[in-house]
Amino acid sequence: MYDERPGFYEEKLFSMHQISIFEILLGRVQKKRMVVRRRVYQRPIKLKFVSGETHYYKGTSYLLNVIYRNGFPKIVVQGDGHIDLYVREGSTTEQREKVMTEWYRKQLKQELPSLIAKWEEVIGVKIKEYNVKQMKTRWGTCNVSARRIWINLELAKKPEHCLEYLVVHEMVHLLERKHNAHFKSQMDKFIPQWRTYRKELKL
Ligand SMILES: [Zn+2]
Repeated sequence: MYDERPGFYEEKLFSMHQISIFEILLGRVQKKRMVVRRRVYQRPIKLKFVSGETHYYKGTSYLLNVIYRNGFPKIVVQGDGHIDLYVREGSTTEQREKVMTEWYRKQLKQELPSLIAKWEEVIGVKIKEYNVKQMKTRWGTCNVSARRIWINLELAKKPEHCLEYLVVHEMVHLLERKHNAHFKSQMDKFIPQWRTYRKELKL
């Protein structure tokens, strides 16, 4: 279980037209840029789910392309670095967000059974129940007595090895509840690079 810093931090929000021509003439550009950058890093971006926005899937960034049309909402990942989001005209930000969220959930739910089955075999444990949840402070949880693991929906946005690492982490709790030396030695045995993946998730 690891803490997750909420939201995305992106430098791209900052643009040059926030700096006036007078400031350029006064040579204050560098200073201003630093101030703006610092402020942007501290503030999570509020996504609006509109065309041109950057969204992540399996560790890759995509530009969102919102297509308005009647019919069921759907999402298509394009090979050219776009994610097409089909929604009805007049959809609200919340509705578009929900389509994306449920799509992320579906992707993870499709991937988890084979991942869990693979690691049940390797680790020698059995999972009774798993689910995908939106969690603010944790990447995953394991209820040892119920043999139930929950995976944070945000992992759909991360590289697949991060998802796999997290699944293994939660499953190893069935061998060891605490994050002690025994737990770490088990992780070393199953995923020798786990510390690198943990760092990736802490960014
Ligand atoms: Zn843990």
